[in-house]
Amino acid sequence: MPDAEEAWLRQRVIDAALDLASSGLSPNMSGNVSARLGDSIFITPSGVAYTDLLPGDLAEIALDGRVLSGPFPPSSEWHMHCAIYEANPQTGGVVHAHSDFATALAVMKREIPPFHYMVAIVGGNNIRCAPYATFGTAELAAHAVAALEGRRACLLAHHGQIAFGATVEEALHLAHEVETLSAQYWRALQLGEPELLSDEEMARNVEKFRNYGRKG
Ligand code: 13P
Ligand code: ZN
Repeated sequence: MPDAEEAWLRQRVIDAALDLASSGLSPNMSGNVSARLGDSIFITPSGVAYTDLLPGDLAEIALDGRVLSGPFPPSSEWHMHCAIYEANPQTGGVVHAHSDFATALAVMKREIPPFHYMVAIVGGNNIRCAPYATFGTAELAAHAVAALEGRRACLLAHHGQIAFGATVEEALHLAHEVETLSAQYWRALQLGEPELLSDEEMARNVEKFRNYGRKG
């Protein structure tokens, strides 16, 4: 029987997974969600439709990927989730999605440049695109961690996108922002190559985002 904090965290992972399904951000079984509690990660199981998930279906794994509990195997992307928690100790949640516009850019190996000030929400002046590697591999995890250096989200070539935050809700919010920016960038490209904001202006925007919105 999980304690109250664990039960609450499990429910928040389920809520984020249901949002991926209902918002269309990651259809069917694509994508995955996790949240951290101490040294444990609670992650969606592999190959189970989000709409079928119950809190008890999540896999509990250690930061090194060891399965600690759960009725189903963890998401095949546990390497990528664990590597992000290891590389970014403040991380409380990770969301991976195959959202349409982010994936469209990712299959073209296009990063998102500073065409809009909101790009700064990821923590820098672009949203990088990590090189391709087979899904569920440590190689993909390493590519993602490198593309996330100084950033809280990136595209994954020929695959989708991944975002992390202090909480699973923050990671989900960021994944939605990445999809919105991808759609806006894709639409702008139909009219030509947009002019980009300067490094100085983006540094100002990154700084403003540090104190933007409700904190704590
Ligand atoms: P899982 O069902 O194993 O989480 O895989 C979905 C996915 O998006 C793989 O990259
Ligand atoms: Zn995927």
